[in-house]
Amino acid sequence: MIVQMKPQATRTEFDRITAFLIQKGFEIKDVSSQNIMVFGIIGDTKSLNATDLEAFEGVSQVTRVSTPYKLASRSFKKTDSIIKIRNGLEIGGDKFIVMAGPCSVESYENTYEIAKRAKASGATVLRGGAFKPRTSPYAFQGMGVEGLEILRKVADEFDMAVVSEIMSEDMIEAFEPYVDIYQIGARNMQNFHLLKQIGARTQKPILLKRGLSSTIEEWLMSAEYIMASGNPNVILCERGIRTFEKYTRNTLDISAVLAIQELSHLPVVIDPSHAAGKYSMIEKLSMASLAVGADGIIVEIHPDPEHALSDGAQSLKLDKFDHMMDSLKKLAEVLDKEI
Ligand code: PEP
Ligand code: MN
Repeated sequence: MIVQMKPQATRTEFDRITAFLIQKGFEIKDVSSQNIMVFGIIGDTKSLNATDLEAFEGVSQVTRVSTPYKLASRSFKKTDSIIKIRNGLEIGGDKFIVMAGPCSVESYENTYEIAKRAKASGATVLRGGAFKPRTSPYAFQGMGVEGLEILRKVADEFDMAVVSEIMSEDMIEAFEPYVDIYQIGARNMQNFHLLKQIGARTQKPILLKRGLSSTIEEWLMSAEYIMASGNPNVILCERGIRTFEKYTRNTLDISAVLAIQELSHLPVVIDPSHAAGKYSMIEKLSMASLAVGADGIIVEIHPDPEHALSDGAQSLKLDKFDHMMDSLKKLAEVLDKEI
């Protein structure tokens, strides 16, 4: 961290802040010139908050040069992390993983029909919400544990992995027998208690969605919470962020994939469904996800979106999903990726 003092700062003010830092175990590298007092803080500055230091009189600006996250950072681990899901299925290598399924689990029959088509087209992970974070308390809230049972049963019939959203740490033990990947939703990205508990109580992969209005640094700090609590198996998911634009449900930040790959070793997937909110955009956004170098996608599909219990407008009909998978396979060949 670099601390720049105000032009009118006094020597006493400089001595006060440097003494505070030395007392905390940091080394001070004074690089002041005749006109301005500037110093570097040497040591593990993860626990230091730049804005807290600005409370010291005489301080003009505090700049962080190392990242506030460590375990999630590219400098901590140079090679890409490959995360094992189950039965040889991995994410983060040369493969482009497709996770597909309904927004919400609705019934055994519906889930079976979806999974059968999804698997036949090349999806390897079955998604489905059993506990739904709905904006309205009057909207369908999900089938609960019965939904998880359905997902597991159906996924096993087609040798697929299961990803489903957990909203509370109370449910970790209930989820454990049913899911292969725990999803933390956008609305819970900064539920730090949930992040700590999930990090400490399971070793299964965690799909961490980016918060609705979170910066990339905040998102990586949330990954750090899970990793620092004991679970290194974090998969990041860009699902669109809130902007001033209203035509789409959210704005897909496709460059976030490249930013994550520069800053972190963790795999990153895209959710075009919650980003666009419109089924007509899903195929092209999925192709863009593959082209930009994401490790996979998670998409909502449904045999009858008009009657889906949630997110029908962004759910692909099954024949449209098949079409999208054909397009992705053609593109994957050109890009030397495997689906
Ligand atoms: C979902 O995947 O169904 C979901 C609610 O996603 P998000 O948390 O990204 O809104
Ligand atoms: Mn949804």
